[in-house]
Amino acid sequence: MELTPNQQAISLAALMFLRGSASFESSLHDEEKVALQLLKQAKAVVPGVANSRDAECAFCGLYRGPIFRSDEGLMVQCPDCGPFALDPASQRSWRLDDEWLIRKLRGALDISPHATTTQIVDGVWDIGRHKKRPVVLARRIDLVERHGLRIFHGPETRSQSWVITPRPLVRSSLEPLAGTATWWQLEDRFALHGLALRLLDPDQGENADVLQDNIPGVAVHGPFSDDFAWVHLEGWPHGPIHLTEAQARLFSALWKHRNQAQSAEFLMREAGLGSERPIDVFKLKRSNRGIPQYEGPLYAYEKLVVRQRRYGQYRLAL
Ligand SMILES: [Zn+2]
Repeated sequence: MELTPNQQAISLAALMFLRGSASFESSLHDEEKVALQLLKQAKAVVPGVANSRDAECAFCGLYRGPIFRSDEGLMVQCPDCGPFALDPASQRSWRLDDEWLIRKLRGALDISPHATTTQIVDGVWDIGRHKKRPVVLARRIDLVERHGLRIFHGPETRSQSWVITPRPLVRSSLEPLAGTATWWQLEDRFALHGLALRLLDPDQGENADVLQDNIPGVAVHGPFSDDFAWVHLEGWPHGPIHLTEAQARLFSALWKHRNQAQSAEFLMREAGLGSERPIDVFKLKRSNRGIPQYEGPLYAYEKLVVRQRRYGQYRLAL
């Protein structure tokens, strides 16, 4: 898919925010250089700290050599290619201005300029409220997972937050914040629009969330809704149980093969999941114990899945 210069710019901004440190202008690809120009115009980037000690060799590009002063001005000594005059442009580096990003996101989300921004932990900020829910900005999603207890449960609780992070470099679990917060990937949800950021399709996104979060699907396949996102169990006092995508896919696989017990390996492959055993996608974090929203899926697992110990096979108890 071809990206527009504005999309390139928000992608580069997200990447630079994720890195947190300065990037050398000379190390960028051609499209990224165009994107950088847009970010400079938007005043989204600030110059990195100049490195006066060494520079990449302009000839071989393999080594960095020390910078030294000579009669002809500043020189670089490549261990392989020898000395050459330093091009000051090769030393230019830029980092994304975190404050700029916070300011622009607040603008895009209609957060009052008077609301305070607080840093929760290093690389994670509370930037205000959007539609009465807290907005958490983080450099990386793994920071949110690692500090989840601190971010969502105290000293200030932030239930059902919007969490904004750049797209992860490596794709990990499908829904790391399922049930806890709504995860927005910066590049997908926001667009650079002149000098401002704009939230993309807010109405559509909102509706999708409401549908997913609040309206339980009726039981179609046994106790499961048509999309397997909901389970209706009589013994559970808190109403229909909402499953994560991974849990829904596992139950869907179990349902499909309900007439015959299957091995864990087979089921996990059918469900397209990377974990080893079905129980892996139901495990509770210590901090979520006792909360019906998290206990529900585990209850459903315990009620509905039978493991035949002798053969290590699983089937639905229906
Ligand atoms: Zn060289």
